[in-house]
Amino acid sequence: MRTNGIHANLSSDFVLRKFAGENESNNMKKLLVANWKLNPQTLNEAKKLFKEVSNFKIHDPRFELVICPPFSYLSSIVSHKSSVIGHRSLVKLGAQDVFWEDKGAYTGEVSAAMLKNLGVEYVIIGHSERRRWLNETDEMINKKVLTTLKAGLKVILCAGEPLNIRRKGLVAAKRFVKNQLQNDLKNVSSFKFQVPRLIVAYEPIWAIGTGRPDKPEQTAEMAKFIKDVLGAMFHVSRFPEAEPRRKASFQRGKQVRYPEGETAFSYGAGGAGKFQVLYGGSVNSGNAEMFLEKKEIDGALIGGASVKPKEFGKIIKIAQRLS
Ligand code: PEP
Repeated sequence: MRTNGIHANLSSDFVLRKFAGENESNNMKKLLVANWKLNPQTLNEAKKLFKEVSNFKIHDPRFELVICPPFSYLSSIVSHKSSVIGHRSLVKLGAQDVFWEDKGAYTGEVSAAMLKNLGVEYVIIGHSERRRWLNETDEMINKKVLTTLKAGLKVILCAGEPLNIRRKGLVAAKRFVKNQLQNDLKNVSSFKFQVPRLIVAYEPIWAIGTGRPDKPEQTAEMAKFIKDVLGAMFHVSRFPEAEPRRKASFQRGKQVRYPEGETAFSYGAGGAGKFQVLYGGSVNSGNAEMFLEKKEIDGALIGGASVKPKEFGKIIKIAQRLS
């Protein structure tokens, strides 16, 4: 018996792991996202920084690196990328924001299609600095998430609690983050292959740019909680343990679709454990290992340290070692 070209008598776990590109030890590639924010000040500096940072990574498939420069440098960096490190480089480009409409009278905005046409693959959405300085609401963020997924780009959704909430404890922080996720991800469909392109960056606001990172154990607990919330939202927590052979009607890429209408993107043992959750907040070369060594934490979103090539290079080495 064959299911869409795959022998159904292969161990389902094996098939799922193969589709996920996982290795035997069930490690997941770590993902590092460099958020340059409003830096550097000139295009020449941006090109130099890009070259220095991407030099640490060229052709190493063990982990994924995404660089998110300001909009104004993106197209030059795309051309620069192929000339300095070649098309085969695994360094990916991300944008720091996007607008929810495709075209029209929206002065100053940039659409997901424009980003995609440039060669951008990831978009950071809902960063707390934009929530704070631009008054971005969950409703706006939700529209951005939907439009970006629809365009076929990957979303890095930032969520995290302010200090006054965290002071009440981790339970209060979890409640806050869950609420953000539920609002920001409204109407995101398990269908149309949207969920596999969704990454959440847990960024407690009080830890961003302050030099006061979260405690890695608490981050790991929050990351697991976020994965459970996503699992419940997208109905994947029961998979694949629950009768995968009977339920899987076909398999394509990293997707397993159920006849009932549920779509799981989660592979291998652990089901919802395969949602990607990053940590962001004062990560540097001195603390990166404590976060990245946690199995619940799939990578880091890095601001300040990402524009210091030597420092970022050390973090890249740590991520490579742990991937
Ligand atoms: C960020 O910009 O998302 C961030 C985490 O910044 P920093 O690493 O500087 O705290």
